[in-house]
Amino acid sequence: MAAAIRGAKAFVEEAQAKYDEAMKAKGADAPLVFPDTAFQLPMIHALMGLEITKLGQLKAVLAHCRELTAVKPSEQLWLPYLGDGLDAGVATLLALEATCAIRYLNGEPIEPGFTGFITDGILRELGIQLVDGRMPGFAAILGPAPTDEIAVHTVRELQKRSILTFLIANRDGVSMKDQLEANGVEMGWETYIVPAGRDIHSSIYVLNWAMRGALTFGGHRKGDWRACLRYTKQRIFAFGITFGPIPDDWYAVGAGAIVMGFPVISDHASTPEVRPTGVTTYEALVRQTDWKQIVPTCIEVRGVKVKVEEVDIPVSYSPAFEGERVRKEDMHVQFGGKYSTAVELLEGAELDEINDGEIIVLGKDIDEVQVGGAMDLGIHIKVAGRKMKKDFEGIFERQMHRYCNAAMGFMHTGQRDQIWCRISKAAFAAGFRLKHIGTILHAKLHDEFGGLVDKVAVTVSTDPDKVIALREQAVPVNQARDERVAGMTDESVDTFYSCTLCQSFAPNHVCVITPERLGLCGAYNWLDGQAAFEINPTGPNQPILKGACISEKTGEWENVNKFVYDNSNRTIERFCAYSLLENPMTSCGCFECILAIVPEANGVMVVNREYTGQTPIGMPFSTLAGSVGGGAQTPGFLGMGRLYLTSRKFIPAEGGLSRLVWMPKELKESLRDKLEARAAQEGLEGFVDKIADETVATTSEELLEYLAKVGHPAVAMEMMF
Ligand code: SF4
Repeated sequence: MAAAIRGAKAFVEEAQAKYDEAMKAKGADAPLVFPDTAFQLPMIHALMGLEITKLGQLKAVLAHCRELTAVKPSEQLWLPYLGDGLDAGVATLLALEATCAIRYLNGEPIEPGFTGFITDGILRELGIQLVDGRMPGFAAILGPAPTDEIAVHTVRELQKRSILTFLIANRDGVSMKDQLEANGVEMGWETYIVPAGRDIHSSIYVLNWAMRGALTFGGHRKGDWRACLRYTKQRIFAFGITFGPIPDDWYAVGAGAIVMGFPVISDHASTPEVRPTGVTTYEALVRQTDWKQIVPTCIEVRGVKVKVEEVDIPVSYSPAFEGERVRKEDMHVQFGGKYSTAVELLEGAELDEINDGEIIVLGKDIDEVQVGGAMDLGIHIKVAGRKMKKDFEGIFERQMHRYCNAAMGFMHTGQRDQIWCRISKAAFAAGFRLKHIGTILHAKLHDEFGGLVDKVAVTVSTDPDKVIALREQAVPVNQARDERVAGMTDESVDTFYSCTLCQSFAPNHVCVITPERLGLCGAYNWLDGQAAFEINPTGPNQPILKGACISEKTGEWENVNKFVYDNSNRTIERFCAYSLLENPMTSCGCFECILAIVPEANGVMVVNREYTGQTPIGMPFSTLAGSVGGGAQTPGFLGMGRLYLTSRKFIPAEGGLSRLVWMPKELKESLRDKLEARAAQEGLEGFVDKIADETVATTSEELLEYLAKVGHPAVAMEMMF
């Protein structure tokens, strides 16, 4: 703090001397103007409410600067607040602006290649992008970097994230502009690298440019310094980077930046950190001595919401490709389905645990597979963010389906540990490789969830042991996600949630997610719907107020009908949440299981995606899926999440669980505990073993024989129709 106060005092003395000299030479009425601005001296306009147009009017400004720097800096007494340092920062902003305005009055030239004062025109052009989030923020770099390599690396890292970079100040006459020039880096507004000035004074051009954002876009009035500073802190994601030991004058400018809510990141071990938050959103002054981590640290400390402009992959990327299928004959390689093991898992991480943009590929890449073959695949995404919540993990993970499908020649279906992906021969020939899966996920998570996600790292494995290990890691994570809603009932809420994420494949499909019925992909439950709406209030998960109940038995409500009608391209007029036969839910293509009526058994059977064998209705899963999906309502057939089987609301309109006559053994065993618990609630003794599976029946005759033998309750129930 002492250094900032010393620096500020020096700036105030310099401004005073400059003022005295100009007054003598030009007089009090000499016009004081920056070029092309409606805000005179913008920082003074905003913070003091003064419209300075003449030299003599600076007298009051300088007097105020002296008041702000009246305190004697102390080297020994450490105070737990920044008050005097912040005052010094404000004095620096005012004094620097006064000095630079006098420079313009004196006609002192701006060195070629530097901007000097930044006009309102540029503010209108770029500032709007800055405050509406298209440009995620700006960086002001003070001084040259220790090496040219570090200079180039730093600006490239900022450019990659579309962050505007200003180059300011010098050390022994050398500025970062010189370093970049020597390395052939193009500079200018178009490349987002803008040299502002060779001396530290030029920092005021950048800071008063930012302040004009509060006056122009924030609509705040001159002199309303509180509102202006709140605006710059909350809406302009700027930060400073300093290289090398920080001299007093840089400290003073840093204090001014901090007043505006802009933190400073220093690469030097001698810099003391200022970690309390408040004036800045997060920490105010942070040390990062690893130069490769400087930009990620800035992003984290300022809370910059990174936008990755385009998905940098060798194939076209657009939502238009979401519905594209990769047929077997066009396929270079596939993963999962019934051909190999494939799993995806997204988990939260601590901010210091991962490096943003890190993509690791473990195992063979797709050049090493026989064309048309299959490989194991594990996609493990780690996401860190200060606003990240555990509840968001499942929601982000579910977006992978959409994100991957938008790449031309990449097909993704399923979810969790049941994904099935294909890469086309054309995509392979264009250069698409496994690392590009990471590129897509990194770009899109930042793009769509930039408000919550600060860092994304992706590991893509084809090594079978690693894939199995990831699958084992994913199982309990997914179980825990499913169990969060346990105990909630449909009656306990007045709102359900929609999911229309799969409309890219099935344009009329609407999942209605209730506490007791999860989405048919099995990856979205009611709490996920709620959290997804919180993240993105205009997204595919909307609350549906149930409204008046039409039938409790079939699960039909007026508002739900209306919502489904409005959101299914006006094709589905009635929707019953609890029925298989009467206006059932539509099915997209992502269902974990298909529920189907077995009329001769007076019951229903369920088959899961992984079961490839025959079923008692004469069709395997793949044939059934062809007739059930596509967003249609097909009475008697229903796509569903596997956990719906264990719900209290499992087709009560048709008699509930006791109708279940057949299911694959693997599915039965995986759900046995939950099925037994449900059966006990219904008073169905020994029920789970009465459900036939492929070991006892794969034809309708065998099924009927078995049901009669074990005394399955469906046999004695009233006829389904
Ligand atoms: S299946 Fe339903 S819940 Fe799952 S992503 Fe698709 S629309 Fe959403």
